[in-house]
Amino acid sequence: METPGSLYLHVPFCPQVCPYCDFHKMRRHEGLVAAYLTRIEAEAEALAARWSGRLRTLYLGGGTPSHLDDAELSRVLGAVRRGWGGLGALETTLEADPGTFDAARAARWRDDGVTRVSIGMQSTQDAVLRFLGRSHSGAEALRAVEHALAAGLAVSLDVITAVPGQDVRADLAAAAASGAQHVSVYTLTIEPFTPFARRGVRVDEERAADDFELAESLLAANALERYEVSNHARPGFESHHNRVYWRGDGWLALGPSAAGFEPPDPDDPPGTRGVRTRNAPIKAWLAGEAPERTPVDGATLALELLMTGLRTREGVDARLVHARTGIDPFERYAPQVAAATAQGTLRRHGDRVVATRRGVMLLNAVLRPFFAAHDDA
Ligand code: SF4
Repeated sequence: METPGSLYLHVPFCPQVCPYCDFHKMRRHEGLVAAYLTRIEAEAEALAARWSGRLRTLYLGGGTPSHLDDAELSRVLGAVRRGWGGLGALETTLEADPGTFDAARAARWRDDGVTRVSIGMQSTQDAVLRFLGRSHSGAEALRAVEHALAAGLAVSLDVITAVPGQDVRADLAAAAASGAQHVSVYTLTIEPFTPFARRGVRVDEERAADDFELAESLLAANALERYEVSNHARPGFESHHNRVYWRGDGWLALGPSAAGFEPPDPDDPPGTRGVRTRNAPIKAWLAGEAPERTPVDGATLALELLMTGLRTREGVDARLVHARTGIDPFERYAPQVAAATAQGTLRRHGDRVVATRRGVMLLNAVLRPFFAAHDDA
């Protein structure tokens, strides 16, 4: 079948294990990396046999994909090239840790087909980086941006806010001044079963809300406009791959614990509009276990598209939702849209509905009545 056009590839190895992280990650050792590469090649071949065609976007995430060495990364990219005849025609992103590359390495990535790096800077303050368990310094992070830009790669930076002891204004100003064309800002969250959770680290909610507002105003003043709750970009540098997630377009998944969203098979239940796939964690994945498949019906997909679309500046196109799901969100959620519009958290523009600035701040509360209506239906 024709490929959904986007591919997420998970590389689970990290130079450090950060105490706030709940992603599927691990330290590397040579035997494990060798087994990973062999399995990725086999998985890519099998997936490409099922979904043929060309890729528009490719995203190598983790974990820390840049923790693979050049030869290992070339094998991963080679597996994608063999499967789909090339990398992402629009965009190929590599997540990179600042301590893992220099100018020469950034240039090799560019020559190998990477177009964009997403750098896990998190902060420019060494005390904050130590607290977060990162193994790079603030100066190294800013040098990493220079190396990537000098190689001609587009750069996205990750910044974490609401960290105890952090001068957020200084971090955001440094990110804005670095030359990066895209900045993703995440509030520190304490996920269950992480070392931070066990140590009882707390995030001050009020401080988190203040940092969220500061990020929007400070980055916008530097031509980095918020186009999604956590993402800011200079015009033309918005992430094509992330838009695939937010618009509910399909994407394939490779690697341990990677998640995808595929078109339905003929033998899926009637009314299935798409299938969420989830690969097994590394041990079972290496043993060849098949991905878990969860068919999604039209009503559920419509709610998901509202949920992700309202996080974006462009909002939700009701005609598109209807075409994808068979559900007109303005009909199905008429009372909820009317109430939120009256409260000033949503605004309608013809076939489109967007969250207002206040709505974005209160998004979880805005969406609650929509979930309740879905559960009651
Ligand atoms: S580098 Fe990223 S994926 Fe790895 S442990 Fe740290 S936060 Fe998690």
